[in-house]
Amino acid sequence: MLYYSGPVARLVDEFTKLPGIGPKTAQRLAFHVLNASPELAQGLAKALVEVRQSIKRCQICCNLTDEDPCSICKDATRNNKLLCVVEEPRDVIAMEKARGYRGQYHVLHGAISPMEGIRPEDLTIKELLKRIQGGDVQEVILAANSDIEGETTALYLARILKPLGVKVTRIAHGIPVGSDLEYADAMTLNKALEGRAEFG
Ligand code: ZN
Repeated sequence: MLYYSGPVARLVDEFTKLPGIGPKTAQRLAFHVLNASPELAQGLAKALVEVRQSIKRCQICCNLTDEDPCSICKDATRNNKLLCVVEEPRDVIAMEKARGYRGQYHVLHGAISPMEGIRPEDLTIKELLKRIQGGDVQEVILAANSDIEGETTALYLARILKPLGVKVTRIAHGIPVGSDLEYADAMTLNKALEGRAEFG
């Protein structure tokens, strides 16, 4: 057990609350901050406080944004009839980087997980329903992840969305481009088969 003076111990303790940071990394980060210029600590502290003060959830799509509604919801050149439902803000970033999609998004902020105690009411499903009931959405693309939680969420959403008269689709999860079939695991292969499209 190492004994630091109070403020150092507190900083190490705060770092260990971050995802993927164990006690050793926390200690390394804390001593890096101590040894670096005072500007580093000031800049870091300022950025941490500001991000919490200025970033909020968009009232339409629930994505994180510094302006409400967010720039995607406000973009009149996007297709409002298409709504892609994703688990996390980082999924929106991934989709936007891929540049293949020009519809709107809805961010659930998680996936249904009985194991972790995450229920449908913990996600932004209420906001999603309100949006579909009141808007021009014709197709909802369920782009939750292909793990068990994502599949559970997609099934749940499909069940409650279909009665609303919208087309509900699920993105196909499959073989990554450039990889060989023989290296794909069974789940990936089965998903690729399920998501097959008509040829030619
Ligand atoms: Zn938005």
